[in-house]
Amino acid sequence: MNEASFLVCWPRARAVRSLPSGPRLRRPPPSPRDCSKVATAFAYVMTDMWLGDSDCVSPEIFRSALGTLYPAFTKKTQQDAQEFLIYVLNELHESLKKYHRRRSCEKESIPRCCRKAIASESSIVTRLFEGQLNYSIMCLKCENCTYRNEVFTVLSIPIPSQYKCSLQDCLQCFFQQDTLTWNNQIHCSFCETKQEAAVRASISKAPKIMIFHLKRFDILGTMKRKLRTDIHYPLTNLDLTPYICPVFRKHPKYNLCAVVNHFGDLDGGHYTAFCKNSVTHAWFSFDDTRVSEIPDTSVQTATAYLLFYSCQPFSIPIEKCKS
Ligand SMILES: [Zn+2]
Repeated sequence: MNEASFLVCWPRARAVRSLPSGPRLRRPPPSPRDCSKVATAFAYVMTDMWLGDSDCVSPEIFRSALGTLYPAFTKKTQQDAQEFLIYVLNELHESLKKYHRRRSCEKESIPRCCRKAIASESSIVTRLFEGQLNYSIMCLKCENCTYRNEVFTVLSIPIPSQYKCSLQDCLQCFFQQDTLTWNNQIHCSFCETKQEAAVRASISKAPKIMIFHLKRFDILGTMKRKLRTDIHYPLTNLDLTPYICPVFRKHPKYNLCAVVNHFGDLDGGHYTAFCKNSVTHAWFSFDDTRVSEIPDTSVQTATAYLLFYSCQPFSIPIEKCKS
């Protein structure tokens, strides 16, 4: 399986309901590029996976549709699953986003600073995967605090140990307070000069599906090496409460629904995926054409590279009636 291994990690039945059917795709294209081809090819992969009668499905057409936009993915070279995931999510968002919101925010009456928030278009991708981080930045001289928001779909988290640690250790490391010094100093508008600052991130909007990218590389001088740390991650009840701003703690408990594994080194290797069937709750391993049911105890491995956690209970998709 190539970098498309995460495809099987897509929240499956939920996505089927929202697949672009004919009429939805007939709206004006969002950009000169025809990214709706990617969404259509994706819809076919999802339909084949859920409704087809083959034991395994090849995402070749989907990959070539994405490859016409990003030629790097058509070559037989090694690509990074996390980068591929971000490209796919962006393309699906571009194809499926709604436009009507945009007009209202282009009005001159809306202050420029507020426009961005209103202008953010929504799609199934943003509704499922988009979260927001809030950074508080405190000047260490005058102690004045400023705040900055940043949208994310994949949270890249550092690994604090070479041998063994937990996902919570990685999260604590990501969310701990950091000091900005030297070249990273901020311009403090109160001191009117560059100052050292203390910065801390917290989650101001938790997405329904949290994707964690484990930064399995370490830089030693000019050398980059892969971190083979055995990271323990919970299958159920991942508690994000300590990292979510108190006023936004709506869905604090997350359950693991998929894992992308990477075998090999930084410049080459092999991807596989584990996914939980949301109907039967059984775990499956996807390794090229080999698909097999695995026990829950096999889901925890030291090869995990991307982790998908969902905070919403699964519900059987219902066809929505449109008036
Ligand atoms: Zn200051």
